[in-house]
Amino acid sequence: MGMPYEFTFDLSKIPRFFFKEIAKVSYEKGMHKRVGRAIDEIIRRFKIEEVTGLNLSDAVLLLEDFMEIQARNLLERDKFVQTRRRALFLPHCSRKYMDSRCKAAFDPNIPSYICAHCSSDCLISRAVSSAERKGYDVYILPGGSCVPKILKAKHYGGVVGVSCGEEIKLGAETLKRMGITGQAVPLVKNGCANTHFNLETLFSIL
Ligand code: SF4
Ligand code: SF4
Repeated sequence: MGMPYEFTFDLSKIPRFFFKEIAKVSYEKGMHKRVGRAIDEIIRRFKIEEVTGLNLSDAVLLLEDFMEIQARNLLERDKFVQTRRRALFLPHCSRKYMDSRCKAAFDPNIPSYICAHCSSDCLISRAVSSAERKGYDVYILPGGSCVPKILKAKHYGGVVGVSCGEEIKLGAETLKRMGITGQAVPLVKNGCANTHFNLETLFSIL
């Protein structure tokens, strides 16, 4: 699977407040307000270029994607909370280890990794445990192309997806085609290995 953004980013050091601001602007975007200026302001205020090393146009692209994801989450939220059978799709790139130290077995028939919970500080392990407690079927996917296969085999009402922005966009199209409602959590650090997402954001969505 190729790297969907042509740049790598790491927002894991940016204060949480940044994401509240994004949510606020996204809401306004949902209300069809113009948000270009607000995005520039957020980038300046949180020193995104300085902290991440991103250039301005990449930072704008990234924030626009975050906002679109948030706006779509808000739009779909009411429908999503009414769904019963739900699945969570997690990206394999957020595992603590990408080599044999990860004890997850890969089942090509699903297809999904099955987390063996070898490391209590592994993001995936924590996400799996929490979602399963809430009744979700959880999948750890090697790539977005697995999504349609799983959705055809099982009949879910609602799906939560964690991945980078590009994969979320593709996933959202698949869900729309299949009439399934979704919520998404974007990675805050990309790069296809050692990636990060925000667990609290995920928990609040589940
Ligand atoms: S906790 Fe699970 S996903 Fe994380 S490294 Fe261990 S087996 Fe792999
Ligand atoms: S979800 Fe992870 S592995 Fe997949 S394209 Fe995005 S960063 Fe790469």
